[in-house]
Amino acid sequence: MNARISHDRHPDVPEEFPEIQRALLDWYRANARDLPWRHTRDPYRILVSEVMLQQTQVDRVIPRYHSFLERFPTAEALAGAPTADVIREWAGLGYNRRAVNLQRAAKAVVDEYGGEFPSDVATLKSLPGIGPYTAGAIACFALEQDVGFLDTNIRRVLHRLFVGPEVPEQSRNQRQMESLATSVVPAGNGWEWGQTLIEFGALQCTARNPACLTCPVQDRCRSFPQIQTVLAELGRNGFRRKQEAPFEGSNRFYRGRVLRALQESPHDTDGLNLDLLGSRVRDDYTRSHEPWLRDVIDGLARDGLVEIAEERDPYDSGPSNRVRLPGTVSHHRPESD
Ligand code: SF4
Repeated sequence: MNARISHDRHPDVPEEFPEIQRALLDWYRANARDLPWRHTRDPYRILVSEVMLQQTQVDRVIPRYHSFLERFPTAEALAGAPTADVIREWAGLGYNRRAVNLQRAAKAVVDEYGGEFPSDVATLKSLPGIGPYTAGAIACFALEQDVGFLDTNIRRVLHRLFVGPEVPEQSRNQRQMESLATSVVPAGNGWEWGQTLIEFGALQCTARNPACLTCPVQDRCRSFPQIQTVLAELGRNGFRRKQEAPFEGSNRFYRGRVLRALQESPHDTDGLNLDLLGSRVRDDYTRSHEPWLRDVIDGLARDGLVEIAEERDPYDSGPSNRVRLPGTVSHHRPESD
């Protein structure tokens, strides 16, 4: 992926591609939202925005992007902060593993690259927690390189426009889509093109309700008009099944509750013992739930989101565990004999 742009036309790209591209860029200039990360070329800020935008809506990200950068304005500041502070700052955004990975990436930039982000996609991809999309986004949106890359929105837009609706009989595989994404990047204008595809996928060619009737490339789109029938069919099957998956009571639901309980505990405490933590995570908690709670906590510890410290309870004969956010300073003083 992100290979050099070829000047040969890709087999999926029609001859009238320059007009399609012009129409999309014009659409972007007329409709783009004024988003804070479009005003910067700082790779660290772009990284923060991209990580936050994974699985969180733009409206919710904007205030959190500002407050996060106020607290951790540089990769150095983030790398040097206690992980507990980073997780607390992330509170409410969900998918807390993103916060830990973001800090790991910042640490790698500081420790291995002297605080300067690498300037090529392959090296960016080698940073912890940075996949092909985020590496491409940093290269494109911070370093203004003409690179092609894919996320769900970009993939959908390109597939619908140049291939057809994303249905099994017609789908292109990842490698084919990467090659298509790379081939359509306009030389010297990769930044605006990348923003255009993302914005077009977010506002016009959305997953479930593409606004085909007002689409500037409707007459050249390989999915129009059958896309509406395909989506109606998917709505009856796939989308509905997805909606039915219950979140409440799932492992992710309880992981979130454990972290929220720790984020809400005072900064200078030593964490929470299992009984107290359990009672904050579920109303019906009893000691019989302890093996289950330990499983949830072990999963969080494996992801670097919590630490488990063993302590001796002065009122009990055996050791017990306290759970805390990583890097929380221990204030516990064992009682002297
Ligand atoms: S016509 Fe519809 S499916 Fe095709 S690009 Fe426009 S919005 Fe997307």
